[in-house]
Amino acid sequence: MQDTICALSTPVAMGAIAVVRISGAEALKIAGSIFKSPRSGVFADRKAYYGEIFDGEQVLDQVLFTYFKAPHSFTGEDMIEISCHGSLYIQKRLIEILIDKGCRLANAGEFTLRAFLSGKMDLVQAEAIADLIASQSKNAHNLAIGSLKGGISSRLKELREQLLHFSAMLELELDFGEEDLQFADRTELNKLLSNIGADITALLASFKQGNALKNGIPVAIVGKPNVGKSTLLNALLNEDRAIVSDIAGTTRDTIEDILTIDGFTFRFIDTAGIRQSEDKIERLGIERAIKSIQDAVVVLLMIDATNCNNIDKELSDFLKMVDVTDKKLIVIINKIDKVEASKREVLTLKEPSAACLFEMSAKFGIHIEQLKEILSKLAGTFVKDDVVMVSNLRHYHALQKAENALHQAETALNAGFSNDMVSIDIKNVLFHLGEVVGEVSNDEVLTEIFSRFCIGK
Ligand code: GDP
Repeated sequence: MQDTICALSTPVAMGAIAVVRISGAEALKIAGSIFKSPRSGVFADRKAYYGEIFDGEQVLDQVLFTYFKAPHSFTGEDMIEISCHGSLYIQKRLIEILIDKGCRLANAGEFTLRAFLSGKMDLVQAEAIADLIASQSKNAHNLAIGSLKGGISSRLKELREQLLHFSAMLELELDFGEEDLQFADRTELNKLLSNIGADITALLASFKQGNALKNGIPVAIVGKPNVGKSTLLNALLNEDRAIVSDIAGTTRDTIEDILTIDGFTFRFIDTAGIRQSEDKIERLGIERAIKSIQDAVVVLLMIDATNCNNIDKELSDFLKMVDVTDKKLIVIINKIDKVEASKREVLTLKEPSAACLFEMSAKFGIHIEQLKEILSKLAGTFVKDDVVMVSNLRHYHALQKAENALHQAETALNAGFSNDMVSIDIKNVLFHLGEVVGEVSNDEVLTEIFSRFCIGK
């Protein structure tokens, strides 16, 4: 039997109220022993009682006491929730009293771990709870809610069920090995493997955008020294965050800042100017700049309008240094305030799908709002209603392994390998799909996942 755990579920801070949770077979006995209300002694399932918590003979606080009888609780065990006043002293003392009476202080994520172990939710949903708590933008929140409601889980469950059927047929053939029977239709199995392969590939492909929506879309601001990269970052963030100066090569390291536009979180990375340099430190900065461009989803390439005769050449020079095939590239012609309108080449703004041209003045904030609009529209193309997206690295890695195993199964099947070889590969696919939802898990993986939760969740 699991021991009874307790923890503060609200932040350790002064507030109007705080919530302490207790879970385990002894929850009612322990919490009930320090709580008195006119109805003490008879606690109905999922009812809240108003009364007093006692610290020895003294009243510690007036609280609401709610009983959730197993299995109708978050953890699936008997649970008590005490809503007390949010004084730091009361919170601390209440926990001390509960420990004194026989509770153990919960580890990080232990309530959710118990919910997972008692089958209240799968691993994807448990992780979605952590993501929901951490969500800071509308889109990160939407992704977490989608997973919590079982988006990815039900998709993977479907795939697993189809494969399980064939796996069982192959096993049956192995049992009748001597008699040369075929229960699993090979053409059907081939078709199924290629359908599942396409599904897994689509899930894997959604990761870059899913991860960007959850953790912030990485936007690299790049260009030659002195084109106005730091000025643009400051203008976007509306503060003097990066160092701005006239001396070429001032931004020697990458600087990262977060901005939310229309519910999308962006992570702006102001990179060192990319150019050939003899300066050792600057060269390090340039290497990092190239690395952050590789990791970026959006690249803002800045060009100085006062110092550029041939935009196409600047662009092609840049593309020789950096591969942007899988990125959205926006070319910004900066410092237009310095160029007479009649002398400016008329630049038309294309749809922000491929490389688009955009003219602005970072220093005077000309077109800064339009740039934000473009970024928001672009991020909007990442959101696809009713499409399941992968945003968790653990899921991504498990799906990659499932995809590899699937290719091996296909190869084995097409090469006419024996049933047991094909069967092993299919079991591997099932294993890795099962890893995502937690049908297959081990203590090490669970400890790793739940240790990232906060205490009390
Ligand atoms: P970085 O090296 O690309 O980061 O360039 P900075 O942001 O440090 O800017 C270099 C110089 O260009 C600074 O003196 C800025 O004030 C100036 N600058 C940046 N943007 C503009 C602009 O839109 N118009 C004008 N006139 N000057 C700008």
